[in-house]
Amino acid sequence: MEGKVALITGASRGMGASHARTFIEHGAHVVLADISDEAGEKLAAELGPNALFVHHDVTDPASWTATVARGIEAFGDINVLVNNAGVLGPLAKTAELTEEDYRKVCRINQDGVFFGMKAVLPSMERVGIGSIVNISSIAGIAANYGFPSLAYVASKFAVRGMTKATAIEYGSKNIRVNSVHPGFIQTPMMVEATNEEGGDALAEIPLGRIADPVEVSNLVLFLASDESSYITGSEHLVDAGMLAH
Ligand code: NAP
Repeated sequence: MEGKVALITGASRGMGASHARTFIEHGAHVVLADISDEAGEKLAAELGPNALFVHHDVTDPASWTATVARGIEAFGDINVLVNNAGVLGPLAKTAELTEEDYRKVCRINQDGVFFGMKAVLPSMERVGIGSIVNISSIAGIAANYGFPSLAYVASKFAVRGMTKATAIEYGSKNIRVNSVHPGFIQTPMMVEATNEEGGDALAEIPLGRIADPVEVSNLVLFLASDESSYITGSEHLVDAGMLAH
């Protein structure tokens, strides 16, 4: 990751924080972008001079413009983007899901990914190389795992589709775009949603356990790095075999 300048959204906690830590350990410069300032500032200080925290809301195009500019000013052109920020939203069935909640989930999980790719692509075109890793979910491939609402499923399917569209458009510019589809990962989001660290889902997991976030970071690291130079436009499961059922 020497020479890589990465922007990671939702980097203050959970998987985003783990990706930031892993990237820094492998020699990258990292812009940690999140709406949670206190945790983000603390993590960036701990990670040292190659890390910079920027307050950032993925739903706001102006915030993207400002954050990309801050990152370029600090570390040079951005050549890696990890669109990780996301929310689960309410665990409501379709008839009970409010339009407001539906739009909020899609705004963060789906529109945020579009705004992010749009904001960093010019920087990647300038340097002639780029890797975008969009974090979807197993819910972006199959909708049968119980608790997420239709809004979460819709947004995560959309991430997978946008990934492929952009990969095709920008392949000739040496910019790769892939999606990552985690299963059950031990993060604040997962614990808040299940309230019992996985609950009944454990029985569905062939490896029989919830993942440590770093087990996803290792895949994201590979896709961000030049080690994955012939991989674009594809989806990558990290689900302990859940979708093998
Ligand atoms: P998390 O623990 O909730 O962390 C997400 C981070 O994103 C939080 O710091 C959150 O801030 C931030 N965020 C929320 N809205 C934002 C916005 N508008 N702009 C910028 N940052 C924002 O979640 P996680 O479990 O690490 O999930 C990371 C990604 O993986 C998400 O896209 C999620 O859908 C996906 N995923 C997770 C799992 C799992 O089992 N955990 C499985 C499959 C996919 P606040 O804390 O202030 O809200």
